Amino acid sequence: MKDVEQLRVMKFGGSSVADAGCISRVAQLVHEAAGQGPVCVVVSALKGTTDMLLEAAERAERGDPGYMELTDRLVTRHRDTIRGLHPNESGVQVQDVVDAMFDELKSVFHGVELVRECTDRTADLIAGFGELLSVRILESVLLTLGRVPDVIDPRRCIVTDHRHRNARVNRPLTYERLRDEISRCEGLVLVPGFIAATAEGVTTTLGRNGSDYTASLLAAAMHARELQIWTDVDGVLSADPRFVPDAFLVPELTFAEAAELSYFGAEVLHPSTMLPVIELDIPVSIRNTWNPTGSGTLITVHAQSRFAIAGIASIDNVAIVNVEGSGMVGIPGIAARLFAAIARAEANIIMISQASSEHTVCLCFREADAHRALRELEREFVAEIVSGEIETPRIQGGMEIVAIIGEAMRGHAGISGRLFHALGEAQVSVHAIAQGSSERNISFIVAESEREHTLRTVHAAFFSAEPGARS
Ligand code: ADP
Ligand code: ASP
Ligand code: MG
Repeated sequence: MKDVEQLRVMKFGGSSVADAGCISRVAQLVHEAAGQGPVCVVVSALKGTTDMLLEAAERAERGDPGYMELTDRLVTRHRDTIRGLHPNESGVQVQDVVDAMFDELKSVFHGVELVRECTDRTADLIAGFGELLSVRILESVLLTLGRVPDVIDPRRCIVTDHRHRNARVNRPLTYERLRDEISRCEGLVLVPGFIAATAEGVTTTLGRNGSDYTASLLAAAMHARELQIWTDVDGVLSADPRFVPDAFLVPELTFAEAAELSYFGAEVLHPSTMLPVIELDIPVSIRNTWNPTGSGTLITVHAQSRFAIAGIASIDNVAIVNVEGSGMVGIPGIAARLFAAIARAEANIIMISQASSEHTVCLCFREADAHRALRELEREFVAEIVSGEIETPRIQGGMEIVAIIGEAMRGHAGISGRLFHALGEAQVSVHAIAQGSSERNISFIVAESEREHTLRTVHAAFFSAEPGARS
């Protein structure tokens, strides 16, 4: 690859490749970018494909023949897309490739139906088909535009552990392999997002929305000039636009703010996206495929917010586990046992709050993790529970974590006052609160049924003032 220091990485999400019209738009953007210098393009599956693949897998596992109908719908959709993009003979070759992939997929589904079991490993194999299909379709359109891209298989370069559905990447090894592979390519490289493989070559996936992460790994491996994430909104917005209609474009964010927003549920970015690019200070821009001349959001080390906070994010399907009792007070080592038990349960804590009385520790998990954590905690503290020093841990589901995020909060008095005053006025009941010492994030728990009301209340409290008003 020539002029590799000029390389740009562009990632197009599922919403940008939803149908023939979208794909031809993406191909045009890529074609133009490729005219200006080397480009790596990461592409997601056609919007909704991964959901359908995973649903079909679940059905096949249950022995529900509905999986066949779902597969047929996917076949038709991909076929229609190819037909829409290639009204003449130019689509024959890609159609053959796509048909062969669907034949393979059908065999996998049939296997799942026969054994009535879909392990996480098989689920990853199935989920990865979406990106393998879409990348071939985009390639076929670029060929008609006179571009001859190299398509690389991330399963040869992105090396992960065996944690299927959400695998962790061995970054040094991955960078080495990506560099090796891409340096042998010409100026335009296509990469299916989301999929990776273990060192033994078993397909894994990087978690939902994982194509963002694929793109940032590529950008870091190649020391790219810029990482562009193209999606269906103008950039990162001040809150999730599906719940807050007034949400507006945030023009600039720091890496740390973007990372916090993504950890706390802003779906526009996969939570690990910032990690590789922060280290190398590679600017990230979030752009709208349908508004390519828009300014988007620029994520860099230095960014200025016009407001006291940069944005609001939330996570649903959260459960609180409360561990309480007099046996928790002033006894060293309780916290160590508590965290060791949670680690054994492989449950990820999203938020912790402990009042200084030490009587209660409130731990927040995704609902799927909470039950595993609870069982392990009961096992760990069985003696204390029997003696009554610790109460049987309780689980409370149907919760939502809401977080306000922003660098400007640091050392800025009155932010939590404004937040909780607004929530009080709006009669929102807060179940737990946490603020990290980074002071970049204040998180709190409300009932999931209060999500929309809470997000709108908080948005109005921080963003309804005139721009420039930081107090
Ligand atoms: P893609 O298909 O491009 O990966 P996603 O659907 O994964 O797109 O992410 C974009 C969506 O994220 C937006 O359409 C929007 O509904 C949602 N979203 C949630 N929070 C935010 C936010 N703070 N800013 C922008 N979009 C957000
Ligand atoms: N197709 C995958 C998903 O739907 C990955 C991605 O879109 O980034 O989660
Ligand atoms: Mg996404």
